[in-house]
Amino acid sequence: SYDDAMKVRSKNLTPALLTFYKKPVMINQGHMQWLWDINDKRYLDLFAGIVTVSVGHCHPKVTKAAEKQMRKLWHTTNIYLHPAIHEYAEKLVAKLPGDLKVVYFTNSGSEANDLALLMARMYTGTFEALSLRNAYHGASPYLMGLTALSTWKYNSPTGLGIHQTMNADPYRGPWGGARCRDSPSQVIGRSCDCAEGQCQAGEHYLDQLKDTVAFSMPNKRCGAFFAESIQGVGGTVQFPKNFLKPAFEHVRSHGGVCISDEVQTGFGRLGTHFWGFETHDIVPDIVTMAKGIGNGFPLAAVVTTPEIAKQMGTALHFNTYGGNPMASAVGSAVLDAIEEDGTQQNSLEVGTYFINKLRELQNEFDVIGDVRGKGLMIGVELVSDREKRTPLAADIVGKIWEDMKDMGLLVGKGGFYGTTLRIKPPMCITKEDTDFSIDVMRKAFQNSCQ
Ligand code: PMP
Repeated sequence: SYDDAMKVRSKNLTPALLTFYKKPVMINQGHMQWLWDINDKRYLDLFAGIVTVSVGHCHPKVTKAAEKQMRKLWHTTNIYLHPAIHEYAEKLVAKLPGDLKVVYFTNSGSEANDLALLMARMYTGTFEALSLRNAYHGASPYLMGLTALSTWKYNSPTGLGIHQTMNADPYRGPWGGARCRDSPSQVIGRSCDCAEGQCQAGEHYLDQLKDTVAFSMPNKRCGAFFAESIQGVGGTVQFPKNFLKPAFEHVRSHGGVCISDEVQTGFGRLGTHFWGFETHDIVPDIVTMAKGIGNGFPLAAVVTTPEIAKQMGTALHFNTYGGNPMASAVGSAVLDAIEEDGTQQNSLEVGTYFINKLRELQNEFDVIGDVRGKGLMIGVELVSDREKRTPLAADIVGKIWEDMKDMGLLVGKGGFYGTTLRIKPPMCITKEDTDFSIDVMRKAFQNSCQ
């Protein structure tokens, strides 16, 4: 029963677990964009198990492929060859541009980023690594250094050689909310129409990055630079258009390799492109991916160039489960489903529709300070004062969020103040689901904010 489950949760499971909602929902079943609790109440899932269920809960084709593999072979380790991993590796690297052709499979995003850091250090011979404030790259004791959000750092020193540079968030970071030089009616960074290469926010953030490399890194050498294409946990933060590309160029000119963390932004979620980095017109040296890659099955990967991978050949590196037959069969079926279902196109169409509807809702409620995102990676920032961008009080955010749940809508939450609603559903949602979501949100805002 629910009460028994809560007892086990408090007695036998670690208190470090994040619990969503005052009275957590107990989910029993899922199908595509829908979830059912133990009382058979249905919810529309707008958070997809934290941006993980990419093609849909228990997607029939993926489930069938998993079942087929499960009857044949579960696990061998990579000491032996097995067909599933080879078929899958070829299929996955075909999705990547340029020289990104060598894959190492792991089980989680944290493992993938840990390995990417190791690869970059081995290849460049340089220990120094750089990430952006407000980033989330993982929860291992080492990655808590690269993860530059204080909420997710505790009792673990920032790893040796790890540096963080400016929060490049045009809404909340330094310069957040400042007016554009060329279009004073607009906030700099994301919403203004500055031509590429001219946004002051982008220039400012780049200056800070250059400053960090010049003043904090021995011999001005940077081994690795990590960036999400849109910061996820940090609150769906979109960088100014002219930031990441010159940042990559700067890091490379100082000896470093550039790592795109595509854990949330990959696999078509942004709609216009399969990978988030493509929206910045860059090709990374290393790409890390997790979450959506396995639609909920533990699978992650690091993909790099043969030249960088070669260095790893000088050492043994071991991961018992990485890319095992089950994971490979699931990963392969997820790629097929994305192709066959037109998932990326749906992200673009429904995502654009959703963002437009949220902007209309913003006209009705002052509490909606900002609507941002791309495709089906959307953030709605709640404020008590739009002009000052004052974060909305936690109890009101909590009430809105609980109300939405009670009306059958599960939404994520994040950002530095925990005041950003995160909408990152399975990418199969429809325009009708969007209309339902907007109705529920309107009612929740009416209940708490009028
Ligand atoms: N990178 C990003 C961008 C993430 O959002 C996350 C997880 N929230 C991770 C890495 C770490 O992934 P995992 O939880 O699978 O270790």
